[in-house]
Amino acid sequence: LSDRLTSVLQNLRSKGKLTEADIDATAREIRVALLEADVALPVVRSFIGQVKERAKGAEVSQALNPAQQVIKIVNDELVGILGGESRRLNLAKNPPSVIMLAGLQGSGKTTLAGKLAMHLKGKGHTPLLVACDLQRPNAVTQLQVVGERAGVPVFAPEEGNGVGDPVDVARRGVDEARGAQHDIVIVDTAGRLGVDEEMMRQASDIRDAVQPDETLFVVDAMTGQDAVTTAEAFRDGVGFSGVVLTKLDGDARGGAALSVREVTGQPILYASNGEKLADFDAFHPDRMASRILGMGDMLTLIEQAEQAFDQEQAEQTAAKIGTGELTLEDFLEQMLSVRKMGPIGNLLGMLPGGGQMKEQLADFDDSHLDRLQAIIRGMTPAERANPKIINASRRLRIANGSGVAVRDVNDLVNRFFEARKMMAQMAGSFGFGGGAGGSK
Ligand code: GDP
Ligand code: MG
Repeated sequence: LSDRLTSVLQNLRSKGKLTEADIDATAREIRVALLEADVALPVVRSFIGQVKERAKGAEVSQALNPAQQVIKIVNDELVGILGGESRRLNLAKNPPSVIMLAGLQGSGKTTLAGKLAMHLKGKGHTPLLVACDLQRPNAVTQLQVVGERAGVPVFAPEEGNGVGDPVDVARRGVDEARGAQHDIVIVDTAGRLGVDEEMMRQASDIRDAVQPDETLFVVDAMTGQDAVTTAEAFRDGVGFSGVVLTKLDGDARGGAALSVREVTGQPILYASNGEKLADFDAFHPDRMASRILGMGDMLTLIEQAEQAFDQEQAEQTAAKIGTGELTLEDFLEQMLSVRKMGPIGNLLGMLPGGGQMKEQLADFDDSHLDRLQAIIRGMTPAERANPKIINASRRLRIANGSGVAVRDVNDLVNRFFEARKMMAQMAGSFGFGGGAGGSK
């Protein structure tokens, strides 16, 4: 994939503006990338649609070429859909919290039970594992082995493997936890190789009996787009509040993550990436997005381009500050970037007296900034470049044009002159920007 994207980048490198053709060309490549990552087709379609919408409305960034820009949008969108920040486990106000695991046979539930138990124990919880898979001949023993490795007790039916009523075991397991002061119960359930009614009924019976605070749908990432069908079946048959992706250490390309997330809308909480209990982590949407697009390096490049752009702007503005040539346009840009605590804000912070300046500039809320922006946009280029020419009649025109009072225009212009004076003094005493002090 990376090669393919690189060639698209080269094709588009020379152009300056984001055109519909650019978007379409890049979107086609992204589509192929998603299909290669094994994302389900309907999910690919709706995703590409969203990205095109956003790309069309996007402002042209000067730091990125068109293809980079589309890819950045794709990545942002992907991270957004995958969940933005990762969510924490929902725990009950009154312990024990019940976490139920559901999923096909072999998806990694029992392994996950151990991983999760160990993880929670490490955070000071006192989990209890409950063995409700009474279908597979060795399922109870397997959970006991896992529990022992995790150093977490297991509640299992006396009868052992393959017999008993899972609903009853689940209920007794939760009672046991309550009595023995376990604050979290992890209920391991049975799965089948394919979705079937009996399995769904058993899982939903267990669910009704223990009223889980969190039902986690465990899905093998290597199943790719099949994950959609399975997720839908579990959503309708049992219902779940979160997803865990397993076997990400295999050659899983991550498409399952996007598909499951799009189709069910439930957050992905954890990622399982190996057979050992420690191979387990919170789910990171940004990492998964890079994995799906196969473009970790690409993103680094984009970040660097953006940083270089900011740096260049900061230097240009610094030079202007020194010579007192600062325009209203620069002023606006500065206020915007100071609010972002961007490079200019940092630059100011490093100047003597700059900290105070920085505070003053940062003292705008968004609506205030919007208004300032409207006022400055309402000026002619000549006025922006040379605010001295803004006389009373111009002020009135600007105020009317940007829907504010003349007093607001006055306020802005006065602030600007004050700031320019103050900055030129600061820069002069610091000796940069070609002003009084000299060298650059
Ligand atoms: P269950 O049937 O849903 O309980 O699945 P198991 O927990 O028994 O796991 C089925 C198989 O997948 C076992 O051989 C596990 O060792 C293996 N497994 C589970 N999770 C992972 C994982 O994240 N990576 C790898 N490579 N193997 C896993
Ligand atoms: Mg199992």
